[in-house]
Amino acid sequence: MSYQLPAIDRLGFCNVFLSAIGGDGANMSAKLLFKIAVTELDLDGAYDAKYGSEKKGTATDVSLRLCYKGTAVRTSGPTTTPHILAIFRPGLIETLQLNRGLQANATVIVNTTQTPDEIRDRLKMHSGRIVCVDAETIAEETGSRLNMPMMALICRALRFPQEQVEAVIAKTWPYAKDANLGAFKAAYDGVNEKEFAPRADYPLLPPALVARGQIGYLNMLNGGAIDAMTHSTVNRNNQVAGYGFVPTFDPSACTGCAVCMTVCSDPGGIVWKDGKVIGLDYAFCKGCMRCVEVCPQTKKGKALNRPEIAQVA
Ligand code: SF4
Ligand code: SF4
Repeated sequence: MSYQLPAIDRLGFCNVFLSAIGGDGANMSAKLLFKIAVTELDLDGAYDAKYGSEKKGTATDVSLRLCYKGTAVRTSGPTTTPHILAIFRPGLIETLQLNRGLQANATVIVNTTQTPDEIRDRLKMHSGRIVCVDAETIAEETGSRLNMPMMALICRALRFPQEQVEAVIAKTWPYAKDANLGAFKAAYDGVNEKEFAPRADYPLLPPALVARGQIGYLNMLNGGAIDAMTHSTVNRNNQVAGYGFVPTFDPSACTGCAVCMTVCSDPGGIVWKDGKVIGLDYAFCKGCMRCVEVCPQTKKGKALNRPEIAQVA
């Protein structure tokens, strides 16, 4: 067997966990990674994704468990002990306690303008490699999406053969080939990474549990209903994930064309009243910038614009 997984746990899996928010494309990129693993590299494994609601910037996550063919695959739920952790929104580090369950010597890939040292302290990571990349800027400059540079660095951490992966990307998205491959290559070239030795005051922590513990037959509500008090996202807003990175809006330049409404990944993000946009609701907007891309340039300028600020979280 020529390809070797970078790490495996006692069940025979290399665990990859992608933490993002709805609309980031984490699920789509993870599906492609899994396809490459199975069809190109002759691996096996299991796949789990929590996604669907893009409302209010809901946190989404995807788990890949990769193993050599012939390994007994006896679990398919989300992994809680990643060897590779990809953080699409660094604002999720503290909220979701993403350091919990991390393996020793894990690889953590973060979309950020912060340094590996800064991320290590935020994450309180015990040991391993932190790979920082400004994936947001790469995506914008190449006309691609956030998920492409992040996927590139997961492939790199998994040591997937770059040329083979690029061929699959080109075949999968023929019309966006140049943009996606541009983002993919830029990510490989644009990393700021560092290896960290174990640190006693940042111990390895057990995986996080939901608020009232793991759900099972002992505490599940009647009929297996999901406990809304524990799992509802109704009171969440996206400040945690999109903090500091939402579009600016100039009402004087808005023509009321409504194109932004057709692309918004959370329709609550754009406030529409009496035939025009009157502003953005930052409790809903997740900062995906899709509306900025489509908002037309007119004589009065462009109503929706990317903010002139650094990504701060
Ligand atoms: S308002 Fe714009 S940036 Fe905010 S979620 Fe909608 S499309 Fe994305
Ligand atoms: S796309 Fe721009 S101009 Fe058109 S309605 Fe939205 S904000 Fe206004």
